[in-house]
Amino acid sequence: MNAILPKRTFFSASAGLRLCRLVVSLAVLAIAGCAPLLPSRTSLPVEVRPSPNFNERRPNFVILHHTSNDTAARALGTLTDAARAVSAHYLISRDGRIYYLVDELARAWHAGESYWGGNSDLNSASIGIELDNNGDEPFADDQIAALLALLADLKQRYGIPTANFLGHGDVAPGRKVDPSRWFPWERLAGQGFGLWCAPGVFPAPPDQDDATLLATFGYDVSDYFAAVGAFKRRFTPDDLSRQLTEHDRALLQCLVSKKQER
Ligand SMILES: [Zn+2]
Repeated sequence: MNAILPKRTFFSASAGLRLCRLVVSLAVLAIAGCAPLLPSRTSLPVEVRPSPNFNERRPNFVILHHTSNDTAARALGTLTDAARAVSAHYLISRDGRIYYLVDELARAWHAGESYWGGNSDLNSASIGIELDNNGDEPFADDQIAALLALLADLKQRYGIPTANFLGHGDVAPGRKVDPSRWFPWERLAGQGFGLWCAPGVFPAPPDQDDATLLATFGYDVSDYFAAVGAFKRRFTPDDLSRQLTEHDRALLQCLVSKKQER
């Protein structure tokens, strides 16, 4: 007992000092607003050293859709139904009303299996916007005006590159055809949302094959004709054949050049 008591006394003094330091440190951490311990993600043995230097990840793409529905109410029903397991960050009705459905910093379920220019999970990197449109009609003026305002807001807040405003059909050419040929891509590009080229500016190099041109621009060319279809729906909506003309090849070369400028 005698041998233990002095040790206890010594230990208690030292521990008390350390406890004081710990309390002060915790108070400093609390004042600094430090994050709690890191949540465990990997099963590998790791040494946890939390850093205070981070913030939330930002979206770097916008993916546009049409709902294929006749009313916004019907689309809202689908996009908020847990059993349907689909969503978007925003829905814009024909009259220009903007519905906010999923936090911009959360991963909404709108693009599905997708690819663009090396990115194979667009849901993780994008804002998804649904447009109330049945797919076989022009898009309403009030709706496009609201969309342009929302795109400007998103581009300004997140610094989304001009080339990264895309359609669902661009990133899933074998599965999706939205937004339809009626969508005003040229008008959007005029305000800085998506690339566009005046026809015939750059002749396509003769040694560049079409699949390579399409892939260099961003398309998944594992289904070549689907990629051609997606390109033509967006850039030559008056010719929806699945063949690239010389005009199309020149347009594609121009778009590739513009993308590489950035
Ligand atoms: Zn879609």
